[in-house]
Amino acid sequence: MKQLILLLISFKSYAFFLITNNGAAFNSNKVKIYISSNSTCTNAGWTKSDILNMAVDGAKDTWNKVGRADITVKKGGEYNTSDGDFLTGELCVADSDTTCAAGTVPKVSNIIIACNNNGTNFPSNSVLAISAPNNISGTKIRGSVILLNDRADSQLGSFSKSEMEKILAHEIGHALGIGHSEDKDAFMYHTEIQNKSKLAKDDIYALSHLYPYSIDDMSCLGFLGSINYPSNKNYWNNGLMALSIGFLSIILALSFFQYAWARLSNNQQKV
Ligand SMILES: [Zn+2]
Repeated sequence: MKQLILLLISFKSYAFFLITNNGAAFNSNKVKIYISSNSTCTNAGWTKSDILNMAVDGAKDTWNKVGRADITVKKGGEYNTSDGDFLTGELCVADSDTTCAAGTVPKVSNIIIACNNNGTNFPSNSVLAISAPNNISGTKIRGSVILLNDRADSQLGSFSKSEMEKILAHEIGHALGIGHSEDKDAFMYHTEIQNKSKLAKDDIYALSHLYPYSIDDMSCLGFLGSINYPSNKNYWNNGLMALSIGFLSIILALSFFQYAWARLSNNQQKV
């Protein structure tokens, strides 16, 4: 029994931070990602469609695989705009940021990528990209922006497609409301993202913290922990979780009966 209890106790420590103090997240469980139509991305070294496809593929390989989080990033397309502030404006995080100068990147819906050369956003070419929600209402993110370094000396063109997918997945993490992690294995660690192979547990904790399933979406029905799955995700993780809950429930119940039976037997012997 003691061994069983020890097995069930686990200590979790989290290393992630959130972008906003109140843990703002998108209100919808599907967020579309677009690229601004007026971006040329000449210095970033990739075409608009390359960048959009790499972002979508990056999300598919990372965030969209987290079965325990209720969020999916989907491909939008080109976001039709002629607003030059997407290309040269400063990125301000929501309304609380009063330090932003005039000429800021416009508020958006969903996630918009743009190639940008603003000197405050990109003081050097070592900053590859910056991203943040810039349209927040209370605890709801309405829209986020991902800006890619389009300075003349941008390094983005020197990365491979696979590395770019990882860099963009990191930026999508910010767009979804996740800050940097102190865990060096995490995708949301601030550097060397292109060398990561998969999300770390800390990334998964961060995403499922911001996008938990509601009781309506995923309800445990009865002793074996059967789960009603929403229809739009890959639920292997949740299925395994349900089986684990059921299995542990059975072990606990058997242990309890064994313990009660032993107590009863002892008592009977004493009488
Ligand atoms: Zn970052």
